[in-house]
Amino acid sequence: MYTRLWIPACIGVGSNLDDPVAQVRAALTGLGALPGTRVQFMSGLYRNPPMGSPDQPDYVNAVACILTQLAPRDLLSALQALERKLGRDRVAQVRWGPRCIDLDILTYACRSIDEEGLCIPHPGISRRNFVLFPLLEIAPELPIPGLDSVRRLAADVDGSMLERVAG
Ligand code: ATP
Ligand code: MG
Ligand code: MG
Repeated sequence: MYTRLWIPACIGVGSNLDDPVAQVRAALTGLGALPGTRVQFMSGLYRNPPMGSPDQPDYVNAVACILTQLAPRDLLSALQALERKLGRDRVAQVRWGPRCIDLDILTYACRSIDEEGLCIPHPGISRRNFVLFPLLEIAPELPIPGLDSVRRLAADVDGSMLERVAG
């Protein structure tokens, strides 16, 4: 379903397999090719230790601000299709285990959605340095619905393990 409006949304991108920097770059390019979607801003890329099992490679993460005409569910479907196109096999993967690409909807306008299979804002935002620090680069004053601005949330999170690896 398309809206006639262009809705601002933020997408979190992460990878820790098969050349993560290249995977994240390919995903950022892929975002701009989604139907009814344009990329407005991209953060730099950040390397950071894994959040799940420590027995996996470091992650590379980035965030993109997009404008999209896709409704939230359709945006999620489009992101999952892009994940598959880039080689992600969900069936073979464990939660927070290694993956070649992960695309999460962080925010969608100022909407709050809590449905089966779709939670916006993404519930991990306030704890995740690998989301907040990239967001700080491109949308510091963005209010996260129900929480606070990116700038204030980032002030409460330790970013010392993040290493900016590419612009
Ligand atoms: P996390 O969501 O904690 O970052 P993950 O990204 O590894 O973990 P996935 O395996 O990619 O988790 O997705 C699990 C499910 O999360 C998906 O089937 C999807 O329906 C659901 N989901 C809920 N809210 C969102 C969202 N905002 N963005 C992306 N997926 C979401
Ligand atoms: Mg995720
Ligand atoms: Mg995900």
